[in-house]
Amino acid sequence: MTVVVVGAGMAGLVAAARLRELGVDAVVREKGTRPGGSMLLSSGVIWRHREWGDFRRECAGGDERLQRLIWERLDDSLEWLVSAGAVPVQDTTENPRTVGNRFDPRLLTEALVRKGGVEGYPSSAGGLPLQHSGAGILCTGGFAASPDLVARYIRPAAPLRLRGNPWSTGDGLVHGLEGGAAVTSGMDEFYGRNMADAAWGEDDFVPASQLYARFARIFDERGEEFFARRDVSWSETNVVQATARRPGARAYYLLDDDALDQTVTYGKVADVVARAPATARVPLDELPFEAPPATRAAVRVVAAITHTMGGLRVDERARVLREDGAPVEGLYAAGVDVGGVATGGYTSGLAQALVLGLVAAESAAA
Ligand SMILES: Cc1cc2nc3c(=O)[nH]c(=O)nc-3n(C[C@H](O)[C@H](O)[C@H](O)COP(=O)(O)OP(=O)(O)OC[C@H]3O[C@@H](n4cnc5c(N)ncnc54)[C@H](O)[C@@H]3O)c2cc1C
Repeated sequence: MTVVVVGAGMAGLVAAARLRELGVDAVVREKGTRPGGSMLLSSGVIWRHREWGDFRRECAGGDERLQRLIWERLDDSLEWLVSAGAVPVQDTTENPRTVGNRFDPRLLTEALVRKGGVEGYPSSAGGLPLQHSGAGILCTGGFAASPDLVARYIRPAAPLRLRGNPWSTGDGLVHGLEGGAAVTSGMDEFYGRNMADAAWGEDDFVPASQLYARFARIFDERGEEFFARRDVSWSETNVVQATARRPGARAYYLLDDDALDQTVTYGKVADVVARAPATARVPLDELPFEAPPATRAAVRVVAAITHTMGGLRVDERARVLREDGAPVEGLYAAGVDVGGVATGGYTSGLAQALVLGLVAAESAAA
């Protein structure tokens, strides 16, 4: 039996590596010009919530069975990843709410390519449609890079800028739907960041992220304060999704002295602001509305999408399901092609890809 794995990002390479380990012939197809998908561009932190209750509470709209599977299997899966040749560079996430490991994304990709192997890239058709009688595992990374699908399901106020690989255009989703698959909750949700409103490329995805909304006052271009800082979630995903629905998918973060003095993931807020491109740092007298009196700095941000949170419905064996709950024969999905894990909140896409990649491979092999 040959299993076709479509997509050589995190989920696809993990699935292929596990299939080979189980003695099953695997063919990995990649449509991009390089393997690694968004994993290669990521910060490399593979994590789960420390407490199961926090995960459930934060992602209350998600599928509890899948959440439980990922939460329970992640620690063993990380051990598997190390056995596959990946070396963690840090054994903490530096976030007290979560546990996991940080990997160098380039070395992680190289280790998985060595174990998983990739054939047939780049090819415009990728691995789809699947035209063989064996099993197929969809690992195409969701539909963030398809402006049409993003507009259809997420309905932002303006086209969302991309903060992920350019090849995840929903091929897995479309293939699944054509085969009768059902979609999950959260089709209108996404993970992304509010980025400095300036030109940026892949190398800027992390440094241009403005991750201090919880200390800012947040206005849209019309001068409406549309999001209260006390409501900003720790991952700031909720304010990004709200920004996507404001005019131009833009917001202004207004900062007073106290806000500028706070420390966040990438240093002091004042330093993060100082590093933002000049075009995004708006002089107060050039704002399109009047700033509150204590404001010392203003940064214009734009919502950017990394990956979608809704997608194909699968069961705990990563089998793609129809509306009536029956599996689509021979079809599996992993990574963020699978939806309904983080609905309502945010959880690690790399963890979802790692665990579901292993599960899909084990199911297909069985
Ligand atoms: C800047 C940045 C920072 C991030 N930091 C983190 C982090 O620290 N922790 C975390 O958990 N997550 C992080 N993420 C998110 C994480 O990278 C993704 O959630 C994860 O890579 C999803 O894995 P995947 O296998 O589903 O998709 P990907 O890794 O994106 O792989 C999908 C692959 O499918 C390929 N493909 C698409 N269509 C086809 C087709 N038709 N045929 C063949 N191949 C196809 C794509 O080219 C790609 O290689 C970050 C992402 C970015 C961009």
